[in-house]
Amino acid sequence: IKQLSKSRYAVFEPTWQTQAVERLQLETDLRRAIERQEFHVYYQPIISIKTDKLIGFEALVRWHHPNKGWVSPVEFIPVAEETGLISLIDRYVLREACRQMVIWEQQFPHKFPLTISVNLSAAQLAQLGLIERIDQILKETGIKREHLKIEITESSLTGNHASEIAMLQQLKNLGIQLSIDDFGTGYSSLARLHQLPIDTLKIDRSFVNQMGSDSESLEIIRTIISLAHILEMDVIAEGVETSEQLLQLQALECEYSQGFLFSRPVDRQTAERLISACSSL
Ligand code: C2E
Ligand code: CA
Ligand code: CA
Ligand code: CA
Repeated sequence: IKQLSKSRYAVFEPTWQTQAVERLQLETDLRRAIERQEFHVYYQPIISIKTDKLIGFEALVRWHHPNKGWVSPVEFIPVAEETGLISLIDRYVLREACRQMVIWEQQFPHKFPLTISVNLSAAQLAQLGLIERIDQILKETGIKREHLKIEITESSLTGNHASEIAMLQQLKNLGIQLSIDDFGTGYSSLARLHQLPIDTLKIDRSFVNQMGSDSESLEIIRTIISLAHILEMDVIAEGVETSEQLLQLQALECEYSQGFLFSRPVDRQTAERLISACSSL
């Protein structure tokens, strides 16, 4: 047995150590990344399915690491959440996105209103002073509040219902819009959803991805859309990659689409080309 466990250690220990070292390195690098301005904001267009027009963008953070190059948010957001660094990242993205919108409105007045959607990590929702900090950024940048949407994942709304309603209401009171992100992957009951001051549901891309091949996904999407409409919310389908998916969503009266079919997340300059190319609303 001793022999066996020894050999097992010999196999597992290095991997575990390497992982721990890598993780620690990532954390150190993340701390530096903020000071060194290695974060960038990319913009993914959101399109009206009915009119085919650009209605706005989702702001998505990108990290350009000095040695590794581009690191995916899927890799570093969880570490940033565990270490609390996410609040700095989210604030950076919010400030940058709001600043950009003010510039774009001056640059392309006849293409407005456009909206910018910004992600707010669950880890922040309960943080003291969150509303004040957001309000400060809105004042500082001068963004028109109706142009900003904040996205909160459905899975982050599983705590105390009363305090979540209160917190979302405080966000709404700032004059901004609210979306529930990755909808369908959490466990919102109809009763809970009904009480939340939400403008938009974003259908998780796993359903959109399977809607062509799996009739259950299609039915889930149909149900989410009718639910949203009953509650007077509109719907964005995420991860739309094919024109078949777009047609199906159109038939289901989904309002908006976001996905590689139209465009990947793009840098500022490319976003500007997209804005100037789109016909005005
Ligand atoms: P999310 O908020 O659900 O963002 C949508 C993700 O789906 C983005 O990945 C986007 O690039 C990707 N996507 C969009 N259309 C398609 C498509 O047609 N096909 C496929 N396969 N993927 C598509 P990204 O940018 O890698 O971000 C991943 C996640 O990281 C985000 O998921 C979000 O949870 C988090 N994230 C990104 N930026 C921020 C941020 O500034 N703050 C916070 N808290 N989280 C962020
Ligand atoms: Ca999002
Ligand atoms: Ca999402
Ligand atoms: Ca997601």
